[in-house]
Amino acid sequence: MGIFSSLFGGGDANTAAAPQHSNIKIHPAVDGGVRPGNPSHGGGTLRCNCQTNPVEVTLSANTAHNHVCGCSKCWKPDGAVFSQVAVVGRDALSVTANPDKLRIVDTEAAIQRYECMGCGVHMYGRIENTGHPFHGLDFVHTELSDDAGFSAPEFAAFVSSIAEAGYDPEKMDSVRGRLNELGLPPYDALSPPLMDLIASHTYNNRE
Ligand SMILES: [Zn+2]
Ligand SMILES: [Zn+2]
Repeated sequence: MGIFSSLFGGGDANTAAAPQHSNIKIHPAVDGGVRPGNPSHGGGTLRCNCQTNPVEVTLSANTAHNHVCGCSKCWKPDGAVFSQVAVVGRDALSVTANPDKLRIVDTEAAIQRYECMGCGVHMYGRIENTGHPFHGLDFVHTELSDDAGFSAPEFAAFVSSIAEAGYDPEKMDSVRGRLNELGLPPYDALSPPLMDLIASHTYNNRE
């Protein structure tokens, strides 16, 4: 072992880069590695999990700010610790099949999440408050689409919140380690660019 190996506890360069936390599950869409998006992707169709008469939501644009989220409000597939959620301009989103199966989960929440009453999947979240910093953006789960190429997840939001849902607090270091291995920097709020956007919105709308 050379001096660097003994200092950093690794072997050669190849084994030093091997994942240490691949046993930690985040979300099925990223557990095998984050697949890159296609920057020229033009949208696609999201479908709920109903076997018959699924709700369909059609996006006429690519998504942005895709990320995994540890909060308790975002919809997650069965067994997933994090959700995967992105934004798209509200003008680019339309419900194209079975809109009568949708209902708002919580009409008092800042984000009105529309779930399918048949299968419980959230098809989109919308902000109606025009003073909200993210007004004009809808929240969607791109794994509901068979169309590949939507923007790839870039970071992990509200990581500490998974402990509120009962995740073992002893494993938080491993969760953050796994997120870093996947190239998804972990934050306990949103990413710095989004936090900056909220802060400047607050400043620009001060009394
Ligand atoms: Zn459904
Ligand atoms: Zn969330």
